Amino acid sequence: MLENQMVNDKHWKHHESKAKVVGECAGCKDEIYVGHDVYELEIDGENFLIHQDSKCCERFIEKISFWKVAGED
Ligand SMILES: [Zn+2]
Repeated sequence: MLENQMVNDKHWKHHESKAKVVGECAGCKDEIYVGHDVYELEIDGENFLIHQDSKCCERFIEKISFWKVAGED
């Protein structure tokens, strides 16, 4: 049992070190690795990658939009 656990750890670490970074999340600013689920969009010729996570989307929207109260100038 103990031996199996060690083998699994070794395999996991090997896999982790091989993960390739493909960009940065425009929401949380964390790295995006190959295989992650992301949204990709283009605004004014600039490409953005965002994790498929509601928090990341929320942060991204806050960055690129104006915060106002609907109906007020
Ligand atoms: Zn993110």
